[in-house]
Amino acid sequence: MTVLPLLLVLLMMACFVAATSAFVVLPQRNTRTIVSSSSSSSSLLKAAGESSTTADEEQDSTATFANTVLSVSSMAKDLQGKIVVVKYGGNAMTSPELAQGFCQDVAALSNLGIKLVVVHGGGPQISKMLETVGVSTTFEGGFRVSSKEVVDVAEMVLCGSVNKQIANGICASGGTAVGLSGRDADLLQCTKQINADGFDLGFVGQVETVNTNLLNSLLDLGITPVVSPIGTGIGPEESTIAYNVNADVAAGRIAGELGAAYVLFLTDIAGVLDKEMKLLPQLSIDDVSNLIDDETITGGMIPKVSYATSALELGVGGAFITDGRVPHALLKQILQNKQGDGDETTGGTLITTE
Ligand code: ADP
Ligand code: MG
Repeated sequence: MTVLPLLLVLLMMACFVAATSAFVVLPQRNTRTIVSSSSSSSSLLKAAGESSTTADEEQDSTATFANTVLSVSSMAKDLQGKIVVVKYGGNAMTSPELAQGFCQDVAALSNLGIKLVVVHGGGPQISKMLETVGVSTTFEGGFRVSSKEVVDVAEMVLCGSVNKQIANGICASGGTAVGLSGRDADLLQCTKQINADGFDLGFVGQVETVNTNLLNSLLDLGITPVVSPIGTGIGPEESTIAYNVNADVAAGRIAGELGAAYVLFLTDIAGVLDKEMKLLPQLSIDDVSNLIDDETITGGMIPKVSYATSALELGVGGAFITDGRVPHALLKQILQNKQGDGDETTGGTLITTE
């Protein structure tokens, strides 16, 4: 990447963070800056003849801007060339505003030289289409029970529509993305998943291998792979089988096999909650297993935390479960994590090995 586009992206991100930090970070530190960040309130003050603090306000605003640029610059330096895998799911996918913000974040971060891989879900979109075509669906332990008909619909929706919309949205935001199915170039080779309690989930795939050569080749070219979680069977007998893979499983495995710096799961809840519905900001692998055993973690949160921990066991540096309902959640999580701010503003749950 040449220096000029990098500077332009830094400037764009600085403006974004300066705008959002007026609401999120700064109130704890300097309330006067919030006033100075609003040009309309500044003109009102002037109109009322109360312009004595203008110079101070300008200085505060310049200092905030400079701090933001320095933070972004340091974050970019630390993460440049590193891989971050993002599971994109939940509300962040169904709200057009949040979806646009997500695509902007991906484009901005990859233009800064961070190697992003997006793995998306699409549960609500699949359920809607199944309803339209009159195919019933059930869940077991957070996994969709997948008959051949269900997988056909899931493939049509995920690979045909959702995947292309996301790749297109990233490109429209100034990034370069390519949409891939897990069946392309044997990206996600699967066997049939056998549930621990023996329940037959149908064509739900357990990921056996990830074509990391393909992903690394694209990342080296500055391209963001956008992966839809439909896997392929292995060997001459099975290679025509399409498997429905839970997107959390796919993201965790891809992160582990790529040796990513981070894996982030954007979801529709604040993070992992305890029985009193209070956010648990940090969990160890042992905590996670206890919370599953005592049924604090249930349903769709099970594959998320399980594959977050399996990614950590494969050497991934950190796993976050983050609230995708927050605008620009991806950018904020990466920036605030690198800034080392308190977890009150960062939100989400960080899972660590110990
Ligand atoms: P996604 O689209 O992000 O995969 P899921 O519905 O599959 O969303 O998983 C997230 C859901 O997991 C939450 O909305 C919540 O209903 C459920 N869940 C179960 N246990 C917990 C828990 N302990 N903390 C937070 N969410 C939980
Ligand atoms: Mg889910």
